[in-house]
Amino acid sequence: MRFYSCYAFDLDGTLYRGSQVVPGAPEVIRAIRERGVSVLFVTNNSGMTRAEYVRKLASMAIESTLDEVITSGAAAGNYAQKEGIQSVFVVGEPGLVFTLRELGLDVVNAGPDGRVNLDTGGAQAVISGICREAFSYDLLDAAMQVVMRTKQYIACNADLTYPVEDGVFRPGSGAIVAALEACSGVRATVVGKPAPDMLINALKALEIDPKDTLMVGDRMDTDIACGKAAGADTCLVLTGVSQAVPAGQWCVDSVKDLV
Ligand SMILES: [Mg+2]
Repeated sequence: MRFYSCYAFDLDGTLYRGSQVVPGAPEVIRAIRERGVSVLFVTNNSGMTRAEYVRKLASMAIESTLDEVITSGAAAGNYAQKEGIQSVFVVGEPGLVFTLRELGLDVVNAGPDGRVNLDTGGAQAVISGICREAFSYDLLDAAMQVVMRTKQYIACNADLTYPVEDGVFRPGSGAIVAALEACSGVRATVVGKPAPDMLINALKALEIDPKDTLMVGDRMDTDIACGKAAGADTCLVLTGVSQAVPAGQWCVDSVKDLV
C-alpha cells in the first residue's frame, strides 16, 4: 500500500464501538505516527467536546491532540457564524452546547450544566445533533417553532443509526433531523460527513493536499462519500455499519489491517 501524508479516521465503528476499542487500532495509529505523517480524527458525533474525545481516545491508548479532533458540532458552529447567526436553540447534548459556546455562540436553551431546556427566546436558528437523554415531544415542538419562525435549521449530521457494542445499532441524529424536517417543512443544512468541508478545512490548516490523504471509515454514505468529495483516497472498514463492499471500493476488515 502507498503511504499518505495524512490519515483521517472516523471514530464510531472504525477505531471503537461504543466504549470498546477495535483490536489493533492503537498499534496502527502508533505505527502511522512513527512515520511522521499527520493524523486526523473526524467524527459526525456531536455528543462530546473535542477535549472529551481526546480523553476517550487516551483511555483506549490512542494518542491525540485537540487540533487533530474534528467534530460535526464544531463544524455546525463554524457554519452558523459564517451565516451571521449568533444565538441558537440546540437539540443536543451538553457536549454540543459546550462546543458551540467555546466558539462564542449563545445557546438560548441551556444552563451552565449544558443540559437543554425549552426556552426559545431570541434564537436565530436550530442546531441539532445526537440527543439521547433530553429528546422529547416537547423539545421537538419547541425546535419546530424556532425553525418555522427563522427558516434556519443546521444539523450536525444525518446518520440514521450508529453502532454500539456487539452488533447493536441505536437511532442516530439523522432520526431527529427526519422528525424536525417533517414537522417544520424546512430542510436542514447538514454540515457533517458526507459534506466534505470538515475534512477540507482541516487539511487546508495542515497545508496537506487531499490527494495525499486517506480517509478511513465504516460507512459508505458518510465517511467514504466525504473522502471522495474532498478528493482523498478512501478505505472502508467492516467493523461498523458496512458489511458489504461495493465494487471498486478499497476495503480492509479492520483498521488493524491497514498497515
Ligand atoms: Mg462510523
